[in-house]
Amino acid sequence: MAKDCIALAARDTSGIIKRINIKRRDVGPNDVEVDIHYSGVCRSDVHMVRSDWIGTNYYPMVPGHEIAGVVKSVGKDVKKFKPGDRVGVGVYVDSCRNCDSCKRGDESYCDDMVATYNTEVTDEKGNTSVTYGGYSASIVTDAGYVVSIPDNLGLDVAAPLLCAGITTYSPLRHFGALKGGPKVRVGIMGFGGLGHLALKLAKAMGCPTTVISTSNRKKDAALKCGADRFLVSTDEKQFKEFEGSMDLIINCVSADHDIDRALKLVANDGAMVLVGLPPHDFKVHPFSLVGRRITLAGSHVGGIGETQEMLDFCAKNNVFAEITEIPAKDVNRAIYELVSNSSTKNRFVINVKDSMTAGEWEVEDDDRIDPKSWKIQSKVVPDEAVLPFHK
Ligand code: NAP
Ligand code: ZN
Repeated sequence: MAKDCIALAARDTSGIIKRINIKRRDVGPNDVEVDIHYSGVCRSDVHMVRSDWIGTNYYPMVPGHEIAGVVKSVGKDVKKFKPGDRVGVGVYVDSCRNCDSCKRGDESYCDDMVATYNTEVTDEKGNTSVTYGGYSASIVTDAGYVVSIPDNLGLDVAAPLLCAGITTYSPLRHFGALKGGPKVRVGIMGFGGLGHLALKLAKAMGCPTTVISTSNRKKDAALKCGADRFLVSTDEKQFKEFEGSMDLIINCVSADHDIDRALKLVANDGAMVLVGLPPHDFKVHPFSLVGRRITLAGSHVGGIGETQEMLDFCAKNNVFAEITEIPAKDVNRAIYELVSNSSTKNRFVINVKDSMTAGEWEVEDDDRIDPKSWKIQSKVVPDEAVLPFHK
């Protein structure tokens, strides 16, 4: 019998989140049932609940793809996990397993990748349903897409590794920082959830690092996480001094911005890898790339094997997320902070387990947000703010 499960869902493109009851499927032979303890609030969740991107969106939408928890039960054919194991579930929960990408272990590039939430799936009986994510008490999912969280990583600070961690580890590895170490000068643009983990990972790989941020507000936090240099991108004079000084920039910015200008920071033969997914397209002049043999690339999450490798790397090198724990009821407040980029916090993580025991699932409205338009009432940063760097 499918089980009832408490969750948090957006009902429409307002993105406002409220409590909902959902069903979780029966535990199949290859499934793992996970009691969710922590669920990170990724900026993608916010893009998704507000339908920022082109694509089909299903409401109610239960976001959440930075899931850390403990195995409650396993299907009869599951050998890899047992009840009590500490595990994580990330951005996707299945893929075709047959295409070139899947065979290479690059499941996140499979055309049939099943996202942890907002993907329509059909079971063997032909019934269709939509996947629901980690803003919920539990999840039942295929064991092949579940990873182990090493003992010395707290579940709370490990949760964001399941998306933000692997999304930045993968391009650092693919574009040479892991092997190159001190020879690869890494720039990290946008110091939020992804950005701070990109910094910690690049440091652990031995790379010289520069954080590129729109203001000075996060300077202390970046230095504390090990940044060697800090560039305020809105400061024209400082920007000029940093031009051409980075071999690999991991661009984690979530809002529309001037890529052409940012490319000036890349050294000859270097690369900028986009992981951030602003809603709109952008213009790049051919001369920004051609004249200095610069690569402009993109990168999407990472493979399952690679995710386990990243978690083991983090455990070995003491890399974990800087988090602000929130009860489930405060999720709209966290989303407000992300949309307005008005806090210096790196990652909000919902304490699902404690919220369950304290009965804190009734989400409070936030009077800074008008539910009809999602317009942010605060004067600090206007809605859809384009900060000076992103003119
Ligand atoms: P986040 O914590 O909100 O960080 C984004 C950063 O972008 C902010 O900290 C800020 O950095 C900068 N920023 C935000 N709003 C801005 C604005 N209006 N103008 C200028 N800069 C702004 O978000 P996140 O969770 O790290 O996610 C970052 C992006 O990556 C999102 O677009 C998300 O959807 C995408 N993502 C992609 C993948 C993938 O597989 N490629 C996976 C996960 C997430 P500063 O304050 O330092 O300037
Ligand atoms: Zn994410």
